[in-house]
Amino acid sequence: MSLGKEIKSKDIKVSRLHPCFGGKAHNKYGRIHLPVSPACNIQCRFCSRTLNKTEERPGVTGQVLKPEETPAIVNKALELCPEITVVGIAGPGDTLATDNALKAFELVHSEHPELIKCLSTNGLLLPQKAKQLADVGVRSVTVTVNAVDPVILDKIVSHIIYNGVRLTGLIAAEILIGSQLEGIEKVAALGVTLKVNTVLIPGVNDKHISEISKAVKAAGANIYNIIPLIPQGEFINFKAPTCDDLAQARKSASDFLEVFYHCKHCRADACGIPGKEDLSSKLYDRQPDTF
Ligand code: SF4
Ligand code: SF4
Repeated sequence: MSLGKEIKSKDIKVSRLHPCFGGKAHNKYGRIHLPVSPACNIQCRFCSRTLNKTEERPGVTGQVLKPEETPAIVNKALELCPEITVVGIAGPGDTLATDNALKAFELVHSEHPELIKCLSTNGLLLPQKAKQLADVGVRSVTVTVNAVDPVILDKIVSHIIYNGVRLTGLIAAEILIGSQLEGIEKVAALGVTLKVNTVLIPGVNDKHISEISKAVKAAGANIYNIIPLIPQGEFINFKAPTCDDLAQARKSASDFLEVFYHCKHCRADACGIPGKEDLSSKLYDRQPDTF
């Protein structure tokens, strides 16, 4: 399959105007990430969430916003960058672990129905929340699926909190994979465009990309994005993938799904056109919060 062209989406608006769901929209349109979701309901062994103004990676934000603060921030972002077409929520924790993201989308959607609402999640609660997401205007969802084999996922995720219970091992991995695939099916059935992210971890899931791509495609995903591991947390001593590792992983993913090549691994409070000047420092005049 020839990839990297205009991504096929069920939703023409998403494929034409979302900088991370359409090859042609990249470098042209912008997004703002609203950092309203600090908590997480799983623990990935590579994750390190933090508050600062300098690091350029997911899981980092300078501040955590309350949902009711978000409409004013979106208005300010649109003044700074009129090319913004997307309001996204991508953490710094999981966006469905609390109802903050749903509340923020509801408020922003009532003021700006024209902007695409986009959510990133680990997918644990996606089956339960799919309908609510569509109801508050979400048109694109990204689910991070790091394995579809519980034995491999157990090496990546140390525990999940599900229905108030902390679970580990294969049972936790089976529940997470089942929720992710069921959640993808549900949001796809609602007409939402779906991207799957995988963190590429050499020696752990690098030979498993084709299976992930096949499984998420069958569930209804439209696009695949492979993110190189940043060695941190329990995986601090792991090696980051080489360019060649990344190219091979993308090639095996492309047997089943279109691949997105332009991801910039943005902060949870990113603002502007991906790959160009980040405007978040101009949006917020306060000092970084603390968790
Ligand atoms: Fe960190 Fe995201 Fe994993 Fe939660 S789901 S532990 S925020 S990487
Ligand atoms: Fe787009 Fe990647 Fe940034 Fe998400 S992290 S907004 S997919 S460039």
